[in-house]
Amino acid sequence: MGKMIYLDNAATTKTAPEVVEAMLPYFTEMYGNPSSIYDFASKSKEGVTKARGQIADALGAKREEIYFTAGGSEADNWALKATFEAYKSKGNHIITTKIEHHAILHTCEYLEKERGAKITYVDVDENGIVKLDELEKAITPETILISVMFANNEIGSIQPIKEIGAIAKEHGILFHTDAVQAFGQVPINVDELGIDMLSSSGHKLNGPKGIGFLYIRKGVKIRSFVHGGAQERKRRAGTENVPGIVGYGAAAERAIRTMEERTAKEIQVRDHFIDRIMKEIPYVKLNGHPTKRLPNNVNVSFQFIEGESMLLMLDNYGVCASSGSACTSGSLDPSHVLLAIGLPHEIAHGSLRMTLSEETTMEDADFVVDKLKEIVSGLRAMSPLYEDFIKKQKN
Ligand SMILES: *Cc1c(COP(=O)(O)O)cnc(C)c1O
Repeated sequence: MGKMIYLDNAATTKTAPEVVEAMLPYFTEMYGNPSSIYDFASKSKEGVTKARGQIADALGAKREEIYFTAGGSEADNWALKATFEAYKSKGNHIITTKIEHHAILHTCEYLEKERGAKITYVDVDENGIVKLDELEKAITPETILISVMFANNEIGSIQPIKEIGAIAKEHGILFHTDAVQAFGQVPINVDELGIDMLSSSGHKLNGPKGIGFLYIRKGVKIRSFVHGGAQERKRRAGTENVPGIVGYGAAAERAIRTMEERTAKEIQVRDHFIDRIMKEIPYVKLNGHPTKRLPNNVNVSFQFIEGESMLLMLDNYGVCASSGSACTSGSLDPSHVLLAIGLPHEIAHGSLRMTLSEETTMEDADFVVDKLKEIVSGLRAMSPLYEDFIKKQKN
């Protein structure tokens, strides 16, 4: 196989060399338990403290508002379950959207089925942007939490977070956002945006896997997620993943430092990708908002073909992409996100997600689009649906 072109950065990213370098000494030399009292252990503790500061700075938050977790899914679970527990005397109603990650949706289903929560799933428009009027109308005196993702992992749409923060504040409701895809890709300041809780994950921004955090604004009542030792201000027990935390801190610092240049380059390649596909391949549709979208997200539906077939053929050329979110591959249902923006099943099935990195070049984009043109016309030539369509066109 020749060169690999990795276009699945929404699924996970390469750990940056400088991040690996920052982590290494915490495996080999500074392996002490941060809770121990001898001087040797204080080195590990310093590593954790520094990383907490790097992450807090990246969000305009305070150090003591950052709680490390084992990833984005855990942070999402924690935010929803603990808020539900802590605020149940006020009410049992949570508002979220139809396009959330399964870490949110399945937690909501659990709360609904097992814990007596009421959940409202607000609609999005055809570009995947949450309908603010519907969201505001859904608020009742029982509403304790609004949870809306910052940016969608499949179609890249960036939500009106500041407006949602203002609505939540006006009604005295907590606001949580799953920012796993957005952190490091768009500027985030929790105070300016009115965010009370925010979930994030290291491996989506060139950090290590299995580490994430939940930002919890000071004053929010929150229950412990893991009971045990006194780590994370007694809210999330367990010996810290010191190398992971240090790596995450370094990745967050790097993401903020490189954001402007990196995302400007990604946007250029992304728009080139989109322009060429839309101009050179017939019967295609861009999914997600044309401009309010993540700098690295391309999501397109090709009529008359299966996304899975495209993926396999792209894989033969060393191109890694996705036909939906990684979690839904293996199932035959089309993505809930594509259905929520109103795509019919057959069109949702022909969708392809390509998520770029700073290493993706214009040449990569040209290579992939050239191959896509061949693949799409080859698959359509074998498609009875396409044949019918063309016959009807001619009549
Ligand atoms: C990847 C992802 C998650 C889950 O994060 P993990 O660290 O893999 O558990 C949650 N939400 C969104 C939007 C994601 O993209």
